[in-house]
Amino acid sequence: MNQHPAESPRGPILEARGVTKMFGGFTALQSVDFSVAPGERVGLIGPNGSGKSTFVNCLSGALTPEQGTILFEASNITGLPAWKRARRGLSRSFQIPRPFRRLTVLENVQVPLRFALPEPLAEGSAREALAILERVGLAPKAFISPKDLSQVELRKLELARALASRPRLLIADEAMAGLSDSEVDEIVALLEELNRQGIAVILIEHIMRAVMRFSERIVVLVAGRKIADGRPDEVMRLKDVERAYLGQ
Ligand code: ADP
Ligand code: MG
Repeated sequence: MNQHPAESPRGPILEARGVTKMFGGFTALQSVDFSVAPGERVGLIGPNGSGKSTFVNCLSGALTPEQGTILFEASNITGLPAWKRARRGLSRSFQIPRPFRRLTVLENVQVPLRFALPEPLAEGSAREALAILERVGLAPKAFISPKDLSQVELRKLELARALASRPRLLIADEAMAGLSDSEVDEIVALLEELNRQGIAVILIEHIMRAVMRFSERIVVLVAGRKIADGRPDEVMRLKDVERAYLGQ
């Protein structure tokens, strides 16, 4: 595990090695290596269909790769179901928010509190859920239906639900799509605040302004392959990256 002591004294919080994912005869991911240091902010970018969500699904446990290994805090989680990964501190938000529409905003956060923690918080979960809603700025909306939330509020609820499992690594899959510029800034500021509280973040995002502002490192996927991995300014200067985005 300590092959890269320079990255961090504790080694990476997440390390994926040679991840390959097929859908039938189609190779969605081709031998992708990827690592995240504790507390790091990594941007994952690439054209539509390049495999970003598929990769996130392999990391979070919604999909199992055909080949490769995924280590979280030095233990092999490649075959673990998503809920077990969540309990270990690896959490993700979904590209399309799907809250329980018949529950209140608060209850939507109580559900993962019941199921995503090693020791369920049956009693006191309302208080904990309210504290999480405060962290994302949704406390004033706790007792309404998610149906009555705006787009940006729905995105915050999605992050609140991911926070319920007390992640040390949070994967935000396109948490800003369809938002206005100022709403994008709000979500970036929120992710920055969560990161200051010690959570490593993988940000999958098309809005380059947000990715560049947020990321300490950027990884680029094109057609299921990693073509770049480095400092944002360096990565954006690469000809291959420019070419991948010119077609868009
Ligand atoms: P991105 O998130 O970068 O836009 P995806 O990971 O969603 O890309 O998709 C990568 C490729 O894999 C696309 O060509 C997509 O059509 C294909 N794909 C994704 N999920 C499935 C699936 N469940 N079955 C078949 N093909 C899929
Ligand atoms: Mg996607």
